[in-house]
Amino acid sequence: MIVGVGALGTHAADALARAGVGHLTLVDRDVVEVSNLQRQCLFDEEDARRARPKAIAAATALRRVNESIRVDADSEELSVERFDALADRPDLILDGTDNFAARMLINDLAIRDGVTWIYAAAVGSTGRAMTIVPGRTPCLRCLMPTPPPTAEVGTCESMGVLSTAITSVVSFQVTEALRWLCRGEFTRGVWVCDPWETIAELRMRHTAPDPNCDSCGRGELPALRTRAESATPLCGRNAVQVMPHATGGVDLRKLADGLGDWASSVECSHQLLRFQADDARFTVFRSGRALVFGTDDAGRARILYDRYVGL
Ligand SMILES: [Zn+2]
Repeated sequence: MIVGVGALGTHAADALARAGVGHLTLVDRDVVEVSNLQRQCLFDEEDARRARPKAIAAATALRRVNESIRVDADSEELSVERFDALADRPDLILDGTDNFAARMLINDLAIRDGVTWIYAAAVGSTGRAMTIVPGRTPCLRCLMPTPPPTAEVGTCESMGVLSTAITSVVSFQVTEALRWLCRGEFTRGVWVCDPWETIAELRMRHTAPDPNCDSCGRGELPALRTRAESATPLCGRNAVQVMPHATGGVDLRKLADGLGDWASSVECSHQLLRFQADDARFTVFRSGRALVFGTDDAGRARILYDRYVGL
């Protein structure tokens, strides 16, 4: 299963389909935009003009690559309910997402069901990845008990990304996938690469699982308790209210500083952060709750929220 079929996910899916991995399930809630084409393979300008759902466009391309394998596409957001409705547990999950809320959901589902998954991320010119084998390696929450909001670490949308940072990190991720599927072997540690700075190294090789980790230590699996319906259209206002995945609120000033050049009309006070991005207007409260104006589509608002606030 590949969750997130953007830059990371399309490259990983392409390599796995060509390698002959017999059954791929692609999950992505977004549609193709022309700005994706710099780094996302399997898509073209026609997909962007038609705003095709990424999972479906990628599956169509992969069936032309290898018609002997099965490719399933799901163009909804991954949720506990959707995962539980699958006929079979996946043998392996690859992370192609762009936010920690989605990654923690994968993390906690994988721990609950004992499924190996491979975290991957890339932004700017750096990439990182880690194979997580429940019970045998630290999980993602062991390393990041409280993940930073996306706006603080940046995303491909807000900071840009070097396309070779993507392919470098996917090279590690897909190699790990093939080793796991063929031989049950995996690498311990966090793979960090920066092709621009010619860095490629394995860090934290000897880090052990944290017995106090809420996910793999205590088994509380907090991501599975997040409300699935966290975005609600506001009647007649062309706006959607989006609730944060995390609790504990947000430092609005830091959030504002992290927005970079992609946001305009930024106004920040102690109580509120307002900005404009992607033809939408955002009002973010200290709790992390946000109103997204300019759309009445809850899914679209959730995507924009995760892209710019990501809490
Ligand atoms: Zn853990």
